[in-house]
Amino acid sequence: MVSAMTDRQPRQPIERSAVVDLSAVQHNVRRLAELARGRTLIAVVKADAYGHGAVPVARAVLAAGAHMLGTAHASEAVALRDAGITAPVLAWLHTPATDFEQALRRDVRLGLNGWELDAVLAAARDTGTPATVHLKLDSGLGRNGATVEEWPGFVERVVAAQNAGLLSVEGIFTHLAVADEPQREAETVAQLHALSDAVRIARDAGLDPTLIHAANTPGLFGAQDMADPDLMLRDAVRVGLGLYGLSPFADRTPEDFGLRPAMTLRTRVANVKAVPAGHGVSYGFAYRTTGPTHLALIPLGYADGVPRVATGAPVRIGDRVYPVVGRIAMDQCVVDLSRGGEPAASSSGSEPPGVDSSAAEPPVRVGDEAVLFGAGEDPFATRWADAAGTINYEIVTRISPRVPREYVNAPDADGVGTAGSAADGAAWTVTRHPDTAHDTRVLAERVAEHLRAGDLVMLNGDLGAGKTTFTQGLGRGLGVRDGIISPTFVLSRVHPNDPDGPRPGGPDLVHVDAYRLDSAADVDDIDLEDTVDTCVTVVEWGTGKVEHLSDSRLVIDIVRARGTQDGPGSADPVSDATGAESTVGTTDGEDPADLSGAVLSRGSGSGGEGYSPSAADVIRALNDEWKSAEQLSDEPRAVIVRGYGPRWADPLQL
Ligand SMILES: *Cc1c(COP(=O)(O)O)cnc(C)c1O
Repeated sequence: MVSAMTDRQPRQPIERSAVVDLSAVQHNVRRLAELARGRTLIAVVKADAYGHGAVPVARAVLAAGAHMLGTAHASEAVALRDAGITAPVLAWLHTPATDFEQALRRDVRLGLNGWELDAVLAAARDTGTPATVHLKLDSGLGRNGATVEEWPGFVERVVAAQNAGLLSVEGIFTHLAVADEPQREAETVAQLHALSDAVRIARDAGLDPTLIHAANTPGLFGAQDMADPDLMLRDAVRVGLGLYGLSPFADRTPEDFGLRPAMTLRTRVANVKAVPAGHGVSYGFAYRTTGPTHLALIPLGYADGVPRVATGAPVRIGDRVYPVVGRIAMDQCVVDLSRGGEPAASSSGSEPPGVDSSAAEPPVRVGDEAVLFGAGEDPFATRWADAAGTINYEIVTRISPRVPREYVNAPDADGVGTAGSAADGAAWTVTRHPDTAHDTRVLAERVAEHLRAGDLVMLNGDLGAGKTTFTQGLGRGLGVRDGIISPTFVLSRVHPNDPDGPRPGGPDLVHVDAYRLDSAADVDDIDLEDTVDTCVTVVEWGTGKVEHLSDSRLVIDIVRARGTQDGPGSADPVSDATGAESTVGTTDGEDPADLSGAVLSRGSGSGGEGYSPSAADVIRALNDEWKSAEQLSDEPRAVIVRGYGPRWADPLQL
């Protein structure tokens, strides 16, 4: 391999991922802040932000207006500091092994329950850094915190430490036991009164805490219906679940509270097969098919954090939702395609109507995207929780490190990586299955009929998936001049409208390979802004880099049943490599004339003669890849089209 190809591998579509939509997290922060009516918002990012990724989530919530972060362990707070996060952080669950000195040196606020006081004071003396603490009251939960009986003595010791200059008390807090059961408000109110009493005792003893807090997510929501919301809201709220867009109440959806679920657990179908009636499924034959059907294999199992007991939980493939049948295994689970129904608006739990999947053509193909639970769309994580006899908190938090997290819509393009494709907030998804390169091109022509100047199309797919073929179809449908080839090794080409073509006077097509662009800032350098309003802009490998160009976009994933997993991003079958109309920009430090010439000379068989050795190697490698890609070009593909933004509010009719 030549250096140009090895120094940065292309972003392959990820086989399994938990996609986290950071714009949903930020939306939720703003919504929670509204409900908190100006109180300090402590965003709880313990347990790796409930499985969403503590550092990217922390950055997103702070950018959206959260004032302070909360973790259980001091080590979790220190990890945020290591990532460069300087906002106030409170950690509240300690043991004698907790490194209090490190916590103080790294400016971590400590929740204190009683026994830790001596250790924290010793750390304050040894480091010369007074501790900033929040005293915790056990108002009934029976976990951490000083009991009502212990409280006055605890306060007395804290006052002495404060007078010795070893700590300052910033807050007093308690944790609620039944806030997620609104009908038990009396028990919650009793806890809140206990907190009021504890605060009075502390103030009478000479402490001056400014942040009194009790409300978790269900408490914050519950406060809206309380006779005296202030009793709940106090000075601050500590919210976790709501940040991630999930509802803590069994009978209320996130939407009921104006929240957007942030995590989508997705993968691709790994196998599809026809089976007769009575066929067993998975270990123990706990399920047998009731008629001839197709089974689809979902490559996620309990090693990925999918609960083994959640048989019956939903998997969405295309526009249908199928139940998991048989036992969930370590790496995989199975859905019966005869049992799919339309996505349910609510989780009624009733058996979906079912479709006839005994027909020769299964409704699902290998490579189709499968969503176990999703951002915005049914199914919700709550349905997996119901199937597993647990709560949605656990479903998202337990997704294991084997599942890569993908971040989309980061507040700052440089802050966290973004990759691949996602079902994040798309208005709709349409999946088609062209069997040949020709059908792929025809499908693209149909997409092109809907395109007009100003449209942004983002195209994803691995080597040989057919991105160039697809773009050629777009070009034909738009009536631009022939000559669309892979944009590998140039950054962008303009294909002018053909006045003698099917759409005279229509927009030009700008074809971009963003694979070598690092960020949205690099994209700015090639001046796509200048043409985006007047042309149709088609960007390969653009996720996380070009979304800012438009408030709307079509995102198109092309997936082969068996994709090659190597090589640069976008060498596709090429039917006609002549006549690229103009070349804008180039790759890292290479000479533009050489490179456009190099690409165009590939058919001559003379490889890189006359170019530098590295360019010759590049061309040879490209030629090899084109050849192998061409051989694969008639494989079936899934083409997954998603619409984002006001321009694409309605699904494309394809
Ligand atoms: C986890 C936790 C929270 C957050 O609870 P949510 O219900 O997720 O909002 C708040 N306070 C304490 C003490 C916690 O442990």
